[in-house]
Amino acid sequence: MKEIYLDNNATTKVDEAVFEEMRPYFCELYGNPSSMHFFGGQVQRKVDEARNRVASLLGASTDEIIFTACGTESDNAAIRSALEVFPEKRHVITSRVEHPAVLTQCRNLTQKGYRVSEIGVDGEGRLDMEEFKATVDTDTAIVSLMYANNETGVIFPIEEAAAIAKAKGALFHTDAVQAVGKIPLDMANSNIDMLSLSGHKLHAPKGIGVLYLRRGTPFRPFMVGGHQEKSRRAGTENAAAIIALGKACELAAQYMEQENTQVKVLRDRLQDELMASIPNARINGGGAERLPNTTSIAYEFVEGEAILLLLSELGICASSGSACTSGSLEPSHVLRAMGVPFTCAHGSIRFSLSRFTTNDEIDTVIRELPPIIARLRLMSPFGREHLKGQK
Ligand code: PLP
Repeated sequence: MKEIYLDNNATTKVDEAVFEEMRPYFCELYGNPSSMHFFGGQVQRKVDEARNRVASLLGASTDEIIFTACGTESDNAAIRSALEVFPEKRHVITSRVEHPAVLTQCRNLTQKGYRVSEIGVDGEGRLDMEEFKATVDTDTAIVSLMYANNETGVIFPIEEAAAIAKAKGALFHTDAVQAVGKIPLDMANSNIDMLSLSGHKLHAPKGIGVLYLRRGTPFRPFMVGGHQEKSRRAGTENAAAIIALGKACELAAQYMEQENTQVKVLRDRLQDELMASIPNARINGGGAERLPNTTSIAYEFVEGEAILLLLSELGICASSGSACTSGSLEPSHVLRAMGVPFTCAHGSIRFSLSRFTTNDEIDTVIRELPPIIARLRLMSPFGREHLKGQK
């Protein structure tokens, strides 16, 4: 069975051009980029080229790019660093809808005596800017707010928030794992101090991430040891993956336009047709500015997991929450924070597209999902009761 892969916010296919770029750096050009000899030197040059390509996608300078192992590491490194830089400041701000890579770390800080504020969102998933403005103060060491939400695709006003944080002397970090490659970023004209990205969300392999660190921002490394990454992240560079990420960033810049036209058109068609054909549904965050590739639709009186399993039998891959929380039967913390009613939150399905998504794949989902929902609703006494008289 050929898969229809609509779970690109969980992870993406490695672009074949990216794979070809990294391939020689396993069995042929396997030198350590830090070695003095020519064999390491040729790897170092490719790592430098990759750093250039990543910097270029972000509108950053090469010395502002620190390679890490993943988005989670970058998030952890940014927040930990800020707390070490400002030991006298005891306040951290984040939002209620962050990925666990940020939220768990922040919640753990309360046990160490930190004040942690989680800013709320409205019914569409938009950040409560009034609450944020009233919360940030001179005791705030770091503000960490995501650029775009992995479950709903809702985009936060990050530049505005970063300027507010800066005015109070706090460092500003953004988890841009879902945004990079989908929306243009320009760090040269930005108030962001630190930004996280992850290779496997933009058609590079798993196990490679970046922490962007604005030049001049004080920093304490999370990983210490060797002098790699200018002593900001010790450990032998994952050269092949770094080289792959460089290529993926170069391609992301080339495909950015397509992401916002072709991919968005497919996403909108999927969403519109499903909304027209299935009653008692709502788009989570549909009224907010969103990533072009994501839609999260809540179906009343059905279980998201049941929908996913039936879709999966047809080869269709989607998600009911973030990949990290979908093992639990609790409705996602993102939808709860948005106040999505329990009966809807349980039946939410996220479709996330990529530049590899085709028209035919979207047609298949548009055809297959309505009878699945109708069947599940008929099986549920609650659904039958509430939807009496509807088809
Ligand atoms: N932040 C967000 C918004 C994500 O969606 C993810 C992955 O799902 C992460 C962080 C974690 O990234 P990684 O899997 O590279 O650790």
